[in-house]
Amino acid sequence: MLFAEVSIGELSIDKISITTKWYEKTFAVMGTQAKFEFEWHNDKEANQLMEKLVNEMHRIDATMSPYKATSELSKINLKAAKKPLIISTELFTLIKRSLDFSKLTSGAFDISFSSVGYLYNYREGVKPNKDQIDHLKEAINFKNIQLNEKSSTIYFSDPRVKIDLGGIAKGYAVDRCIEILRLSGIKNAYVNAGGDSRIIGRKNDRLWYIGIKHPRDTTKLVANLPLENIAVSTSGDYERFFIQDGVRYHHIIDPTTGNSASKIQSVTLLANDSITADALSTSVFVLGVQDGMSLINQLEGISAIVIDNKSKLFLSKDMGNASE
Ligand code: AMP
Ligand code: MG
Repeated sequence: MLFAEVSIGELSIDKISITTKWYEKTFAVMGTQAKFEFEWHNDKEANQLMEKLVNEMHRIDATMSPYKATSELSKINLKAAKKPLIISTELFTLIKRSLDFSKLTSGAFDISFSSVGYLYNYREGVKPNKDQIDHLKEAINFKNIQLNEKSSTIYFSDPRVKIDLGGIAKGYAVDRCIEILRLSGIKNAYVNAGGDSRIIGRKNDRLWYIGIKHPRDTTKLVANLPLENIAVSTSGDYERFFIQDGVRYHHIIDPTTGNSASKIQSVTLLANDSITADALSTSVFVLGVQDGMSLINQLEGISAIVIDNKSKLFLSKDMGNASE
């Protein structure tokens, strides 16, 4: 029988619900680990969506990796100092956003850090020598990167300039994936790429928790943040580094010196989107506690948790104990 006939008054329905499941996947991309988790009610659709998300992260990696000779970014580094080079709208837009963050942070965020930064190899313990840094560090200046909106071109006004989107591309990839999830009707999800995460909705009616690692003992958490509908980015000097003669050489470069930024051990930044969280976590890392917190305290809807080079913890104004 396909349906039952009941008389009015007899009908009693406790709960009508669609059975949903959580789908998750962890994989390697952009030199780090990425993870997706989302809730949906149909295996086939969920698997197709998962594939789309994984492909999107790989596509962004293939376009923006400085380590892949075929990436559009590598082509820019090879050619943009010779004459203005036409680039894709996607890269143009992200480089423009990067330059906006350079202006906002008085040059602490600067994708041309790579003019010196490309000479570091953290896995192999390789760093530029003093002469190389002295020769190349003038090339680190976002003003050397010229974008022309009309012709959709990029031009480097100094032949020594190289750019690298490592401080913003993971945030961009996370935002893109959240957009894909939203357009597919997903209400509850978590997207992560390395230190960058963004969440929408909840996990089984509970808040999400994202931990902040202790920068000098990464097996321990200094905090576990309960979160909802937010982007979180952590920049830490323990992510990619080597120690030589007592000095820690790591992947976040102070554009004014060409050396690794040394005022901070880790910055966790909370914002509404991952591009902002990613770019500003790297920026505050370079700026240090004083300048970094005074910038964050001026920005609406953005919070920071900073651990300085003495492992002391600081919170932005909106999070509690004010720090100027
Ligand atoms: P994150 O872990 O998000 O702080 O990003 C670190 C990455 O940002 C590095 O691996 C570099 O690719 C890039 N980066 C390093 N220094 C800077 C800087 N001063 N401005 C912009 N990007 C940077
Ligand atoms: Mg960042």
